[in-house]
Amino acid sequence: MSRDHYRVLVVDLESGKSRIEKLDGRDKTAGGSGLAAQLYQNYGKPELDWNHPEQPFILAIGPLTGIFPLMSKTICSFISPYHSQYTESHGGGRSALALFFAGYDALVLIGQASVLSCVSVGSNHVQIKDTSFMKGMNAMGAGKLIRRIFKKASGHRSILRIGPSGEIGSAMACINVDSYRHFGRMGGGAALGAKRIKGIIINGDSGREISQDKAYAQVFKEVYHKVTSTSMMKKYYNLGTAVNLQGLNDIRSLPWYNLQKTADPAISHLTGEVFADQTLLRNGACSGCPVGCIHLGFYRDRFKEEARYLYHQVPYDYEPIFAAGTMLGVTNCFDVLRVLEELELVSLDAMSGGVALAWATEATERGLIDECQTIVPLRFGDATAYQQAVQHLGRGSNDFYQLLGMGTLKAAQEYGGEEFGCVLGQEMAGYATGELFFAAQSLGFRHSHLDTGAYSWDQKNDQKDVEKGVQFLLDDEPGRVFLTSMVACLFARSVYDNEQLAKCLAVAGYENLAQNRTEISEHIRKLRWQVRVQTGFNPDEITIPKRFHEVETWKGKIDPCFLDEVKSAYGKRIMELAAK
Ligand code: SF4
Repeated sequence: MSRDHYRVLVVDLESGKSRIEKLDGRDKTAGGSGLAAQLYQNYGKPELDWNHPEQPFILAIGPLTGIFPLMSKTICSFISPYHSQYTESHGGGRSALALFFAGYDALVLIGQASVLSCVSVGSNHVQIKDTSFMKGMNAMGAGKLIRRIFKKASGHRSILRIGPSGEIGSAMACINVDSYRHFGRMGGGAALGAKRIKGIIINGDSGREISQDKAYAQVFKEVYHKVTSTSMMKKYYNLGTAVNLQGLNDIRSLPWYNLQKTADPAISHLTGEVFADQTLLRNGACSGCPVGCIHLGFYRDRFKEEARYLYHQVPYDYEPIFAAGTMLGVTNCFDVLRVLEELELVSLDAMSGGVALAWATEATERGLIDECQTIVPLRFGDATAYQQAVQHLGRGSNDFYQLLGMGTLKAAQEYGGEEFGCVLGQEMAGYATGELFFAAQSLGFRHSHLDTGAYSWDQKNDQKDVEKGVQFLLDDEPGRVFLTSMVACLFARSVYDNEQLAKCLAVAGYENLAQNRTEISEHIRKLRWQVRVQTGFNPDEITIPKRFHEVETWKGKIDPCFLDEVKSAYGKRIMELAAK
């Protein structure tokens, strides 16, 4: 491995051939998000559809992966089935360290396999295996089989796979990573499905030299101390992100019942404390993370007329609880876990799936659709119906569910109800905090709440200053983009401030990245938007449904004029950035 260039494994699924490419550019794109955008420039076909076999599917890690704590994420980039534009999705599990120990900065899949297959890669092998018998198999079944079929080499092994939703090309299809992590948003599962790839097995089967330098050991200690012995990461380990449910409900920013409300007394059944007291089994962690924010809850099923139970383990977090709980009016913590498990099995992004079904429920209440479309009667709070509806959505059981799987607004165009579709570029994240967040998510690069700090800005600012708000978004972005190029878990953004990152990069041998962080961040930010614009991004084409105008937060009613002004000013500035 070299610090001067990238080492990229390129696998052509059509010919079955693979090659290792040495790629220049480390000093400009750093890795992760930057590297992924650079690779799309090299291999991408902006003029072709998202599911064209020539579109690349990219996984990329960063220069600090495996070297410092919480550098545990992988960037997955592809053309999204949602809007046929370039996008990213971030996932953890063992994926990043497995790629690191396999000896690659990135994996690029090009072409399309002739039948549904799995691809296994390691430091000295690439194998593509016909797994057409896995067609339609859910993520859990596929994961178990893959573990048996592909021999485990020594070291870290990460297993990525899709469920039925990815195979049918649903824009809500995620990729399940190992047991409890995902490349969740923007339809990465469909991008993999379009390549006829059911699973990717990454074998981290080689050794990597770690610096014996005292300076490295000292900086590592410093970071480790911050992560494990200060309050910086405590919230993520203790109650986890579920702790935010009560707080957001208190400030009237938690979406309930398809965003018809932003607070409800029933929150007392869905707080982080309730999930921990009643359901929590244990915490899990991504490889290379001493924090362990993954909270695994349980629910149990009783075997018929016997005093025996089957225990199900289901990961939970703030946003999945919003999507399968408050948004659907499901207020029993075990029921929320039941719905989440169904989403997990068919490999649907929990947020997209929950928000889409919330729209379908309101559309049912308003008489726009009925059981002819939904197959099961949908009612807010009816978890059993939602469990079945998730299966229909994930498997595309009829025309209605197939269309809904391509996006709530696509279904609303056909059946009506566009005004109450809770879509901000993609189905909304769980933050009804105000105008800045609504504008920022709708134009965000990956439509994640972590694209910007808008959700936090809204919670602290009630003045309607367009310029100030937009400037905040623009100033905040380069730092995030640099972190996702490292590729850090964004929960650790307070640990890895500018100074800390510079130290880490310097002792890891990336002096140039340490010294030129500001210029490199700007370059990566611009490159990402350029690639996005090349593939069709146009902020003027993105509309914000009327439901968001009706929201009431701690600041009072949303101001639609202010919202439009922020969106339009932010869109203009993004286009200027890309054009520079
Ligand atoms: S804090 Fe959570 S998501 Fe982030 S790396 Fe650790 S376990 Fe993974």
